[in-house]
Amino acid sequence: MHNADLIAELKQKTIDFGSLRQLLQTHTREDDETLFAAARSVREKYYGKTVFLRGLIEFTSYCKNDCRYCGLRRGNAKAERYRLTPENIYACCAEGYALGLRTFVLQGGEDAYFTDARMCEIVRAIRKKYPDCAITLSLGERDAASYQAMYDAGADRYLLRHETANAAHYAVLHPQNMQLSTRLDALRQLKQIGYQVGCGFMVGSPGQTIECLLDDLMFLQSFQPDMVGIGPFLPHKDTPFANEKAGTLEETLFLLALIRLLLPHVLLPATTALGTAHHAGREKGLLAGANVLMPNLSPVAVRKKYMLYDGKICTGEESAQCAHCLRRRVESVGCTIAVDRGDPVSI
Ligand code: SAH
Ligand code: SF4
Repeated sequence: MHNADLIAELKQKTIDFGSLRQLLQTHTREDDETLFAAARSVREKYYGKTVFLRGLIEFTSYCKNDCRYCGLRRGNAKAERYRLTPENIYACCAEGYALGLRTFVLQGGEDAYFTDARMCEIVRAIRKKYPDCAITLSLGERDAASYQAMYDAGADRYLLRHETANAAHYAVLHPQNMQLSTRLDALRQLKQIGYQVGCGFMVGSPGQTIECLLDDLMFLQSFQPDMVGIGPFLPHKDTPFANEKAGTLEETLFLLALIRLLLPHVLLPATTALGTAHHAGREKGLLAGANVLMPNLSPVAVRKKYMLYDGKICTGEESAQCAHCLRRRVESVGCTIAVDRGDPVSI
């Protein structure tokens, strides 16, 4: 069958995984354009031309893990470590709220300093001050009781990328003490508790094959997350993957569009990594079916210390500058920003 027919099937949600494999193996630039148009029309059916913003607060660069791809890994002695105080975090929220943001994402390494008691206090304070905002956490793997306590304190969403749904590939990306099964259990627990859950993966990470990507897409199909975060893998000079090839803009856009068609109602960010891979990467992401952007609200003084990969953009600007810059970018592709929590549409 021709790829154009496969894309039509995908839009009707009748495609099988054999056909998806063919598309992954043989898609051309022309197929990609057809796919992007299909993804845009599906996004517009559910969300119109609205783009939702999430204000990212990178509150700790300490991490006990040693993920091979990440600049914050424990083994990187050159990484500069910092922790924001609760007051720093609240100031970021206040600035974000004034800029029209209605979702705050607290993201950090796996840092034992931030115990359940400390996290719950922070979440409670934000919940109390901003009852109209969503609170998203992205703190990696914790136990179910911890996830529950933070949910009870007022958190609504959790981002935990599965990174790859292929166990052998997971072992290429992580040391032995990290297991895909643990990660997937955590995702299930989060969903069970009632969080809106986001998973996701890097495109073009070392060792990733088409079979890995098929496993990822199959996992997304069965798990039905509310959000999917994908961006290109970008090497960091002080990690074991320093000399590996970066993931490409084109492959990331292709996967964004595929995901939009597989999960029509998903909240799909055009990530900072995509904007780092190409100066117009985020705009192109919106044109391939994405509908979320994540402006950085972290204090400028710490931004360069949260270096997951080399060349990360938006590390020199104030939050207000970032917000204005994003507004221009969104308008340049005919979309508009909503002052809204940006919850998933119900199906
Ligand atoms: N510690 C938390 C959150 C911070 S890392 C966690 O791991 O979940 C957030 C995401 O950054 C990771 O899930 C990973 O997919 C992405 N990331 C890390 N290093 C990267 C790199 N070199 N290139 C692209 N993305 C990277
Ligand atoms: Fe830590 Fe997350 Fe980086 Fe892994 S990806 S080293 S858990 S900050």
